[in-house]
Amino acid sequence: MSNENKSIHEFDFNLICEYFSAMERQGPGSPEVTIKALSFIDNISDGSHIADIGCGTGGQTMVLAQNAPGKITGIDLFPIFIDLFNANARKMNLQDRVKGIVGSMDKLTFDNEELDLIWSEGAIYNIGFEKGLTEWRRFLKRGGYIAVSEASWFTDERPDEIDAFWRDAYPGIDTIPNKVAQMQKAGYIPVASFILPENSWTENFYVPQNRAQETFLTRHKGNKAAVELVANLLHEAVLYSKYKDYYGYVFYIGRKI
Ligand code: SAH
Repeated sequence: MSNENKSIHEFDFNLICEYFSAMERQGPGSPEVTIKALSFIDNISDGSHIADIGCGTGGQTMVLAQNAPGKITGIDLFPIFIDLFNANARKMNLQDRVKGIVGSMDKLTFDNEELDLIWSEGAIYNIGFEKGLTEWRRFLKRGGYIAVSEASWFTDERPDEIDAFWRDAYPGIDTIPNKVAQMQKAGYIPVASFILPENSWTENFYVPQNRAQETFLTRHKGNKAAVELVANLLHEAVLYSKYKDYYGYVFYIGRKI
């Protein structure tokens, strides 16, 4: 199997974590996109509790905190991300309102109806879109919101190469109308959905990676897995530029009924 075709799931977690901890964001997105998604949500006040699930190092969480009142709990599986998250909150003087904890999205420990808003950018795929929407619903108050970004197809059909790539990387990828229907079926009013602009992938995701790749490869000189990881991610970026008309990230915002 060539490096290019190796699935990201086959790489060591520590190596992936180290690679992505050098970046402000661990998935496609941007401050403008976070703020746009937030503009559809109208129930947040000083007393609100927001959860950011799969928060990574908190790039989007800090933007949320600067643009919405209330308390935010960030949850991520990896302690290295949570350490950076809490350091970022302190750096931005947000530590009184923003706290990162280590935890898994399939074993959340919130009380039923504790949350006003569930946020999750580029992370719900780890549990699966439908499963995450369904399982997390009980933590939301009635009328509470959920806002998640998720890889989606833009068309009903697409070239084999990109179809095969995504079927391997994330078989849960689906078209926008199907995702919206899944959200409705899971017990939410689909309030809005919008496609993330291209710069969420390029300037905000692949370009920062290019800058960090050299340092990463120097640090892991002679390490075959590190070389393969970088080759894999470079391949992903090439696929994106080739097939960006067929897929991308989409923000889905819903209100619990
Ligand atoms: N929301 C961030 C990170 C997206 S990358 C951003 O947009 O930049 C996906 C994140 O999900 C990673 O930080 C990864 O560590 C986290 N993750 C993966 N599996 C998880 C799980 N089971 N529970 C919680 N977080 C998880």
